[in-house]
Amino acid sequence: METVAPEREIIEVIKENGGDSFKYCYQCGLCDAVCPWNRVRQFSMRKLVRQATFGLTEIDKEEMWRCSTCGTCPQRCPRGVNQIEAGVALRRIAAEYDVYPGHVAPVQNVVASLTSEGNSLGGEREKRADWAKDLAVKPYSEGMEILYFTGCYLSYDPRMRQVAAATAAILQKAGVDFGILGAAENCCGESIRKTGNEDLFKRLARDNIKAFIERGVKKVLVSSPHCYHTFRNEYPEFMVNFEVMFISELIAELIAEGRLELKGEYPKRVTYHDPCYLGRHNGIYDAPREVLGRIPGLQLNEMADARENSLCCGGGGGRIWMETPKEDRFADLRVRQAVEAGAEVLVTSCPYCITNFTDSSLDLDENEALEIKDLTEIVQAVL
Ligand code: SF4
Repeated sequence: METVAPEREIIEVIKENGGDSFKYCYQCGLCDAVCPWNRVRQFSMRKLVRQATFGLTEIDKEEMWRCSTCGTCPQRCPRGVNQIEAGVALRRIAAEYDVYPGHVAPVQNVVASLTSEGNSLGGEREKRADWAKDLAVKPYSEGMEILYFTGCYLSYDPRMRQVAAATAAILQKAGVDFGILGAAENCCGESIRKTGNEDLFKRLARDNIKAFIERGVKKVLVSSPHCYHTFRNEYPEFMVNFEVMFISELIAELIAEGRLELKGEYPKRVTYHDPCYLGRHNGIYDAPREVLGRIPGLQLNEMADARENSLCCGGGGGRIWMETPKEDRFADLRVRQAVEAGAEVLVTSCPYCITNFTDSSLDLDENEALEIKDLTEIVQAVL
């Protein structure tokens, strides 16, 4: 089967969604050369671009779902083709037809959970603030310094709740006046938008914006680069304007202002992984390294692919919800790079990265034991 949707429709949808730049592609193949997929199996973004230009995309095949939106190929394309936006445009057609083939099928459950409970993990809405129960964290009220937007993974995932707790401990230690939305918080919607579900993204975004406006929120703190990206770059589409801060930026600021003192020692070899949506998509490379550089005893070793060249964990573009067979996992390669850099701890700042790296680290040999940590957990250890 070559196409499910009519060719005209595909071409029009691509154009409407910023994919018009497809026509500038001159098939140099640089996108394929830098794509992380080609480290584990064959995948051709160049071919996808070519097919889509003529409306020949096969929306019932898994190829169009492979892109993890890591941002490497748009960064390198000599013709300014925005492969991510155009690829998402194709997925919009698939989402409209409700076509989620093979390994993509779990996205349907995520859509159901986001629609009914406002989160991607199947948790109950009323339990969204349970992570904070015994931590003296207040509900946000007007006039507070910061709204801490916790996000789905840090609210519901047992491993990631430790990161939410570490964040609360840091803010409390620094005397930051902050609160949370609890059950009024919804998924930011960034990743579901990348699967092509524009309607659901808009519904989630509007509900969050309404909650912010009703409470007079001015400054939002986030722990996920995906929340950061959508609040900063996509929510302005709704004509709203509030300040967004990523946790590593805030910690660096609190240290510089003398509000946070790091007193303990962390005598370990650490490597830092730049999450795609923090680094390539938003240019935050220095703040986390600045924080790590202030931790007594910590030795920072860079990996083979760092900063702009960081190797994607494989979780962006909604792929965190899809099944990725063992042999196709970029995270396995990244964990290997961390070991080769001589690290005992792989630290990052993204719930998707932590989830994927933790899975991959389980396959390392005993003598290669690698801890996977969020930056906040390292800071908490030296407060
Ligand atoms: Fe086309 Fe750009 Fe890819 Fe070259 S890098 S094949 S111009 S999309």
